[in-house]
Amino acid sequence: VARTGAVPPGRDIDELVAAAHARGLRHAEGTVADYIPILAQVDPELFGLCVVDVDGGVHEVGDTGARFSIQSISKAFVYALLCDALGHEEVFDVVGVNNTGAAFNSVVAIELNEGHPGNPMVNAGAIATTALMPSATAEEKWEAVRNGLSRFAGRGLEVDDDVYRSESLTNQRNRAIAQLLESYGRIRSDPAEAVDVYTRQCSLLVDAHDLAVMGATLADGGVNPVTGERVVSADVCRDTLAVLAASGLYERSGEWLFEIGLPGKSGVAGGLVTVAPGKAGIGAYAPRLDSAGNSVRGQIGTAYLSRALGLNIFASE
Ligand code: GLN
Repeated sequence: VARTGAVPPGRDIDELVAAAHARGLRHAEGTVADYIPILAQVDPELFGLCVVDVDGGVHEVGDTGARFSIQSISKAFVYALLCDALGHEEVFDVVGVNNTGAAFNSVVAIELNEGHPGNPMVNAGAIATTALMPSATAEEKWEAVRNGLSRFAGRGLEVDDDVYRSESLTNQRNRAIAQLLESYGRIRSDPAEAVDVYTRQCSLLVDAHDLAVMGATLADGGVNPVTGERVVSADVCRDTLAVLAASGLYERSGEWLFEIGLPGKSGVAGGLVTVAPGKAGIGAYAPRLDSAGNSVRGQIGTAYLSRALGLNIFASE
């Protein structure tokens, strides 16, 4: 029996997902990320779109089984795990919840904010978040992150070693950010270790279907609708979604919220997760990005679905 909160019954959701996918396919704007060298080798035409509702129903079209590194989308789920472990007050003090108005890897934003990372969805805040994970060693932190993200996805996630190596060799900027945070006393563990765990979490392989399940878990108040397992509390989901609404698409978050009206999170490999609270998660994958680092086709397909399924949280009808 469909719960009243799920996506509208009686609509042919598969048809709408197919139409959204077709809409996205018309677009070839944007460029594949290349500052992490291995990401530039991807097929730029890949495009998968998947909706998982809070009853566990799956609707997918295109390359939904194509795997890619989760990248910044991991930030949303690690933040949720940390808030679940520590309580959001403590995390709030260290990481904050305001949009920086700057690129995800901005150093200037940290300086202008007196060493505060701004929010957990930019690199500085995400590295500080990972550093706060309550485990004694870096290895335990990593296992807590991998295990937690796997529970969101409902399957064991694995690292792409080539992505991890490629990013580790070229992440001087993230190492600098972590050291800058340390100089301001804003990071509580060894900065190099925190960056290493962060780099591993960004290298976890997912597909668009996984992202939809992960998003549906946030939509479902923290219970994975496929496995039935509670991953985090409902309060944590609410707080995480508020942070995503403000900063999930970096300096483009305002435009995104205006167009789509839902919390979402992008990653530079081309993944995009969107959450319709109480209803569904949407996972998208298409590697070409806009200038802020957000999947172009992912945004177009998701915008179509938000309108067609009436998901905008600001709409009164
Ligand atoms: N691992 C990437 C980085 O730290 C993640 C950035 C992103 O997806 N926007 O640069």
